[in-house]
Amino acid sequence: MTAAMDIKVIKSSASKLAGMDLNGIAFGKYFSDHMLEADYIDGKWQHAVIRPYQPLSLSPALAALHYGQAIFEGIKAYKDPKGNPYIFRPHDNFVRFNVSAERMQMPAVPEELFMEGMAQLVRLDQQWIPPYTDHSLYIRPFMFSSDELIGVRPSDNYKFLIILSPTGPYYSAPMKIWVEEKYVRAVSGGVGYAKAAGNYGGAMYATAQARKRGYDQVLWTDPIEHKYVQECGTMNVFFIIGNTAITPDLNEGTILAGVTRQSVMTLLQERGLTIEERPLSMEEVMAAYKNGTLKEVFGTGTAATISLIKELCYKDFVLQFDVDSWTLAPSIKEQLTAIREGRINGSHGWMQPV
Ligand SMILES: *Cc1c(COP(=O)(O)O)cnc(C)c1O
Repeated sequence: MTAAMDIKVIKSSASKLAGMDLNGIAFGKYFSDHMLEADYIDGKWQHAVIRPYQPLSLSPALAALHYGQAIFEGIKAYKDPKGNPYIFRPHDNFVRFNVSAERMQMPAVPEELFMEGMAQLVRLDQQWIPPYTDHSLYIRPFMFSSDELIGVRPSDNYKFLIILSPTGPYYSAPMKIWVEEKYVRAVSGGVGYAKAAGNYGGAMYATAQARKRGYDQVLWTDPIEHKYVQECGTMNVFFIIGNTAITPDLNEGTILAGVTRQSVMTLLQERGLTIEERPLSMEEVMAAYKNGTLKEVFGTGTAATISLIKELCYKDFVLQFDVDSWTLAPSIKEQLTAIREGRINGSHGWMQPV
């Protein structure tokens, strides 16, 4: 394939949008009219096509189903008040996608295919971006191995797709979090920093156990001592202690380098907070809670933006917060939402026109 990506377009004959109400639409359940699809065959990405959203026909011997070479991304598109479509920091997701691909021994997806393909697809289906606040069009690029052969080795063939899903507000309620001390999500040297499908399958058992105890999510801790916090479900985590925002650093390779995490760090810094990316132990969190300096705790991620944490359960100790009195996290969330919906200046160059 040449540098300028040649993407064939086959348009659907009728839009599914007719008769659909996008206001308050549930996350991840509905898909737009088109999808992008490309194949990696003979060492080259080819057959790039945007075509009507439809099921795939796959072999039962499909390598990805057996040995798990599968990665994904999550990005959002918005409309500004004039109705122009924009995508939030898509290049960061493109870079991270290929970091995940390398870790999973999968081929890199060329920038033109990922970026131009995504822009072309969103442009074509832009009427699927709900024009309401806290709504967006969720963009899900993903890749999986597609050899039809049972054998443990990297596949020769891969499929790359992008699908689009209109979404309303995601987690609205503040969360109760179980600080996990038995099960682990990621170890140093593992695949925790990759957005690899297996990371999520591997996390579901512990999350289900936490749910049985009445918690919404787990906060993962380090695998050796269960002492240092990692991240929370599909969110990075921030602790505001005094005038400092602390979030776990990425040095161990156990945590996803969130684009929302990066954006929130920038906005917090602009408000005069000191940002510290470093190991953070639950002892330190408990001490700050007890001496009254632990002000706010929240998760960050594309799906939910910012989710307030109203309770943390660690060992036999329950940390409870009066989230209604918080001002920082709700105000950062509002600012980020306003940036993404093009309602304020100072978008930091984060909004890419489609
Ligand atoms: C996607 C994800 C995040 C958040 O990353 P964003 O780029 O902010 O969406 C955090 N942790 C995990 C495990 C994730 O999969």
